[in-house]
Amino acid sequence: MNGTDTLQMKDSEALVVFSGGQDSTTCLFWALKRFRKVHTITFAYGQKHSKEIEMARAIAEEAGVDFHLQDVSFISQIGTSSLTDTSIEMDQERPDGSFPNTFVPGRNLFFLSVAAVYAREKGIRHLVTGVSQTDFSGYPDCRDSFIKSLNVTLNLAMEEQFVIHTPLMWIDKAETWALSDELGVLDLVRYKTLTCYNGIPGDGCGHCPSCKLRMAGLEKYLSTRQ
Ligand code: ZN
Repeated sequence: MNGTDTLQMKDSEALVVFSGGQDSTTCLFWALKRFRKVHTITFAYGQKHSKEIEMARAIAEEAGVDFHLQDVSFISQIGTSSLTDTSIEMDQERPDGSFPNTFVPGRNLFFLSVAAVYAREKGIRHLVTGVSQTDFSGYPDCRDSFIKSLNVTLNLAMEEQFVIHTPLMWIDKAETWALSDELGVLDLVRYKTLTCYNGIPGDGCGHCPSCKLRMAGLEKYLSTRQ
């Protein structure tokens, strides 16, 4: 990104795709440092843990940003995932060569497309998402190539100049913790977000794949912290 882009960002508004988890909360505070005004959009997609939504709302309130809750529950009606279907037990580990059943087909495609339409209505062209190719857990819609492709598609679809920002794309969980520390919100991210697949806030249940990844990253970061 060149200096002109940075100047333009300072004068612009951004919309953060916000789940109330570690990654999107870190992205929210990343955006607050860079944009004049920040908005959030949170999706109700039929996730088992609706507590996620309430935690997202509380963080947005604390950060002093707009919070928009958007219903997209059709996603769980047309696709199958253990994150939305209570009759499916979540994979503890990823089976070789296949997606973990926590994959929600089309999730980021739908989220970002809906976010772009909402942003357009508000005159916002910067979108921020916490996807990461480094820790992508096998989800194809977290990859950089997908995001770049979708960015082009959204611009063509609406004759707009959206810019999708992915601050976490090339960093791992330990570096994401480092970023939240640098932004002065490590404790907020650690204790007020929810990433656990079993719906337990903060450090979580400790044994689901999401908690393991998050805790390993935190331990790695804290061990190197001055
Ligand atoms: Zn957990």
